[in-house]
Amino acid sequence: MSDQPHCPGFEANKSLSEVKVKCPACGLEMEIFSDEIGKTIKCAACGVSFEAAPNQVT
Ligand SMILES: [Zn+2]
Repeated sequence: MSDQPHCPGFEANKSLSEVKVKCPACGLEMEIFSDEIGKTIKCAACGVSFEAAPNQVT
């Protein structure tokens, strides 16, 4: 295990979990970090901005 200080942001992300969200416009599933839930994100495929909410899996 290296403990290099050049990338503190990566270390901070270790406490976050990944969640899947689906674009309401094109249906693309994307993985985001849990701290992005409730924020406005942009679909990588169609460019639509939407509020990130956890994918409802039934
Ligand atoms: Zn989309």
